[in-house]
Parts: sequence; structure tokens; C-alpha cells
Amino acid sequence: MMKKTLSLLALLLAATTATAQLKPRPDAFPPQAAATPGRKAVQMASTVAEMAAWDRYPTYPVYVEMMQRWASDYPDICSLDTIGTSIQGRLILALHIEGNRQQEILRPEFFYTSTIHGDEVTGYAMMLRLIDTLLTSYGHSPRLTALVDGTAIYINPLANPDGTYRMGNHTVQGAMRYNADYVDLNRTFPDPFSPTAKALPQENAAMIAYTNAHRFRLSANLHGGSEVANYPWDSFTSADRPHPESDWWKAVCRRFVDTCRAVDNGYLRDVADEGYIAGGDWYVIGGGRQDYMNYYHDCLELTLEISSEKTPPAAQLPAFWRRLRSALLNYIEEIYSLPGSASARTADGDTPTLSPNPTHGPIAVEGLAEGARLTLCDMTGRTLLAATAHGGRATLDLGALPHGIYLLHADGKTQKVVKR
Ligand SMILES: [Zn+2]
Repeated sequence: MMKKTLSLLALLLAATTATAQLKPRPDAFPPQAAATPGRKAVQMASTVAEMAAWDRYPTYPVYVEMMQRWASDYPDICSLDTIGTSIQGRLILALHIEGNRQQEILRPEFFYTSTIHGDEVTGYAMMLRLIDTLLTSYGHSPRLTALVDGTAIYINPLANPDGTYRMGNHTVQGAMRYNADYVDLNRTFPDPFSPTAKALPQENAAMIAYTNAHRFRLSANLHGGSEVANYPWDSFTSADRPHPESDWWKAVCRRFVDTCRAVDNGYLRDVADEGYIAGGDWYVIGGGRQDYMNYYHDCLELTLEISSEKTPPAAQLPAFWRRLRSALLNYIEEIYSLPGSASARTADGDTPTLSPNPTHGPIAVEGLAEGARLTLCDMTGRTLLAATAHGGRATLDLGALPHGIYLLHADGKTQKVVKR
């Protein structure tokens, strides 16, 4: 991740003892020469059966077949979405995993997406295995059954298929970071802080349309080239402008790192001892997906850099899974620990304001259309309170409700309300 400010930033970093030892961001432009594993090391599965031990990368047809099979094998809890197509016509797919669908309630929406940089394929393999774990555990593991029943989980294992299968559908050997137009998809999202005139790549346009059609509250974007959890913002240093939920992010990252290190204490150490860092303190970039999601969608998105080697030998994939399995599952559950206000918007005027939030009881909602209807629901979608706006405002009293997180629907917007 990087932009023009690099040389200035490098000077600043060099002058700052706290950050001077940080290694440069690996997904910088121009790309650093990555160690290229031999053909044998990047062993491919050319049938679904050959994926059984999860120690190979799938060919493109095997990947598509796996996604389709999961949807047909688990129709009650799993369906296949096509986010869009790449420039070369490959599918950008997501599996939607959600249990107990006959009960039409509002469940919080979670999103994992990986390999927006086509050569950073460890996350691609991890996402496939995560899908398999969620589906095969349903009805067997009480914890994962509850997670699937209570959460709308969307998983896009491969955001940049043309980059990954650059040399053809049969191999990830020779994968590249960019899409088929040699555009870095993680530098070309709308940038709230430094708008550019860059054209929106086809893959990102599809991803944005998909995001607009959902209400993702928590997400992560998986990369490789380093091992670190990178929380927002990427556009600033934390001293310049901290993310409003920095404390929450640090706690979530600490839990993620600790969970991985319970398996392998040497993991996630090549950037920061803590295993996590504010993105801009490592490397400032613009046009990244993480800040786009945080700013425009009020979606708390984390960048997870999960392997120092971008395309590790396939035989190492089971070891990465052992390190990451619990942490990746726990991270989905963090959707139930979201802070009271995830909004990073600053006065763009279209979201009703709530105060106080958190509240012990009464809450005033302002900036409403005359006669607007408000409803307050719990996390299962049950309506608990309702009101109508007069003079642009309304009040609700949560005094009789248990402590916890509620969702306020007003003026076509949904906001979290925390009852203390
Ligand atoms: Zn990357």
C-alpha cells in the first residue's frame, strides 16, 4: 500500500524512533520482487477431490465448482452470489452463509474478502477452508451453528481472479498483484480523503455495487506479503487522525493476534511486536478498500496480512490454517462486540443524529423528515419501540430495555444504539 507521500513519509519515519524499525509495506508500488516458489511448490488441485487435504491451490474451474457445490450441497444455509465478472470474464463470487432463513429477521451482515492482490493467495485458500468449516460444522458445533443462525456471513475468496490466474486457469504460479489492465484494485476505490480522477476498475465497480446492496457492519480484507493486522486509517498516521474506534480496533486486533499466537507464538511478528498496527503508521496509502468501507459504509473493515510470503508453497497451507482457524472464526463473532457508534462520517447531513449514545434511557433523534417513522429493534430484528418524528425530531426511551446493542431504523438509515 502506498502513494506519492512516500519519500516524505520515509523521512518522517526515519525521524521517529517509535516507527523507525517498521519494515516497508510489502504491497508497495512498484512491486518488490517476491521469492517465486518453484512450480512443484505451488501444487494445484485439478479436481475437487484433490482439495481434500487442503494442501493445494485450486485451479480456476475447481474453485468455481467448489463454490457451486457448496451452494447445492447446503441449500438451506448457503447460496452463491455473483458479485460481478473480471475484465477477462472470470467470476467474482461470494458465498452467503446464513442459517434458519425461514425466520425472516434482520441479522447483522459480515463480509470476508481476499486476494484483491492476485498474487497474495494464502487468504484465498484460507477462505475456502473457512467456508467448508462453517458449512460442515452446522448442526454439529453448537457455537458455529449459533454463529451461522445469528449472522449473515458473506465470503468472497477471490476478488481479483485475473491477477491470480494470470498465466491461465490451471495455475496460480506467476500470479500478479494487478487486474488484467495492470491496475492495483486496492488503490482505486473512491477515496474520501484524497479524491482522485482514477477510473473505477470493473472489479471494484462490481464490489461497490455488491456492498451498496448490503449493510456490512464488519469485514476483513485478506492480503499477504507481511504478517500483521492493519486497522484503519490507511490514509493518515494515527497521530494525524486516529480512527474514532481506535480503542475498539486495538482490542479486537489483540484478541486476533493472541488467538493466533496461542498456536504459533512466532506468528504475526514481521511488522510490529504487537502483531497489529494502524495502517498509516506503517505506510500511508490512498484509494484503499479499507478506508472506503470504513468511511462510506460505516463498515468496520480490517486489513489482515496473513503470510510473509505472498504465494507460499501449497504444503504450508495447513499450517497457516492451524494458526488462523480460531482467530478467523472469532473475528466473525466480533460483530457482536461492535462499538456504539461506528460512524466515521462528519456532517454530511443525511444521517439522523442520536444523543446521547450510549444512553441510560432517553435518546433524542434529530435531523428527521417530518412524519418519519422510527423503529428500534434488537439484534434479532424484533421491533421493541416505535415513534413518529415531529418538527424534525423524536425521542425514544430505552429505560425499560436490557443493556446491549439495538438498531434504530429511521429515514432509511440504520444506526446502532447502545443501552448502558
Ligand atoms: Zn496486498
